[in-house]
Amino acid sequence: MVTRNTFQRQKILEYLSSVKTHPTAEMVYKEVLKDIPTITLATVYRNLNLLAKQGVILRLEVNKEYHYDGCTEEHQHGVCQKCGNIMDFMNEELSQYVITHLKQKDFKPSTVNIIFQGTCESCNEVL
Ligand SMILES: [Zn+2]
Ligand SMILES: [Zn+2]
Repeated sequence: MVTRNTFQRQKILEYLSSVKTHPTAEMVYKEVLKDIPTITLATVYRNLNLLAKQGVILRLEVNKEYHYDGCTEEHQHGVCQKCGNIMDFMNEELSQYVITHLKQKDFKPSTVNIIFQGTCESCNEVL
């Protein structure tokens, strides 16, 4: 049975999987609103956090704001400090390297979230 909640969650997930922009809940809300005019921001928040908890999507904290990512493959992020753009770096080896080189006797890492700070290509050109 497809409940209203499932339908809303599916739309949110669909949108998130279709973009590479790592939107905030507000941005997701504005997009999903086009398909579901009755949806509320609170519902979007609740569903995003639920999906993140289930591991279906990623939740990143960047500049004190939560951003959501439909890609759950092991990858790293680069945050442009000038325009706030969040980029994906699909370097699986790098994450593996960091995990195997932690070498802490009292801790066994399973995953690692790497966020690089820097400037993106288009901001570099403006210099
Ligand atoms: Zn930039
Ligand atoms: Zn990402």
